Amino acid sequence: MKIGWIGLGNMGIPMAGNLLAAGYDVYVWNRTAEKTAPLVAQGATRTETLAQLVATCDVLFTMVSDDEAVKAVYGGPEGILACPGADGKLAIDMSTVSPATSRWIAERCQQAGVRFLDAPVSGSVGPAKEGTLVIMVGGEPGDYTQAKPLLEHLGKISLHLGANGAGTSAKLAINLLLGITVQGVAETLLFARSLGIESEQMLKIISESAVGTPLIRGKATSILADDYPAAFALKHMAKDLRLAREAGVSTPLAESVDASYRHALHEGLGELDLMAIIRHLEQKS
Ligand code: NAP
Repeated sequence: MKIGWIGLGNMGIPMAGNLLAAGYDVYVWNRTAEKTAPLVAQGATRTETLAQLVATCDVLFTMVSDDEAVKAVYGGPEGILACPGADGKLAIDMSTVSPATSRWIAERCQQAGVRFLDAPVSGSVGPAKEGTLVIMVGGEPGDYTQAKPLLEHLGKISLHLGANGAGTSAKLAINLLLGITVQGVAETLLFARSLGIESEQMLKIISESAVGTPLIRGKATSILADDYPAAFALKHMAKDLRLAREAGVSTPLAESVDASYRHALHEGLGELDLMAIIRHLEQKS
């Protein structure tokens, strides 16, 4: 089986790398061609064009930024669905986009004879490298059955949740909790600091307490160094909270975190890790 991978950003590189490591024949294409270099060094084949990748591969994975990018990659004039030979292939979109966009793509895929799954992931670059993501899938059960052995190399669990759009719906819900949790940690540390408790001590307390999570332990080094290289860029968190709002969430914490990340984005923190929300809150207080 030949696997095509489209989108080699922070997540796409380790995820495609896991399929290579599992022994699959992996072909890669990225809008910015230079970013294919790490995968080519690991044994992947770079195609010059998206059309070449589509013509060559049996299964196509996409892992790109947002709704606009997914629509361009599938439905654009040179997108997957315009490529000769797309008919009959299985396309799996792992990007975080709105359920409406997943259904929009699914409808166009159906018209073109392409089978389509939305399969976004929970977990950042660490779990992507380790192959321990949580994968939420929407689409036809038979297509999920075909995809499952591949998904097992990318995640510790995959769940088939219903028709197209169900995967991205679940993803928006889990990322609402992510946004709330990260802002909660930031507020807790700032409050503790204002009372004279050092962040190092407070992080130890959080980690050993009932609310300690691998997420918080994973962010400790960044917080203590006040350095936030993006594992999950703040701009993507702001996007996911916007998508949740557009999908109808209007509860108090959701409204609050949506506003916070939006303001942080406008302050120029978008390219940093989402934990940089602490800088926005620090300025505010
Ligand atoms: P990233 O590092 O920003 O990479 C984005 C990728 O999308 C790049 O390959 C980029 O190509 C491509 N792209 C953007 N616009 C495009 C367009 N119009 N046409 C073709 N390709 C386009 O993002 P990431 O962190 O890997 O995240 C990818 C997706 O996974 C996002 O939807 C994100 O919300 C989701 N996600 C991320 C994390 C995380 O921790 N990072 C965790 C879970 C889910 P270029 O190289 O040419 O710019």
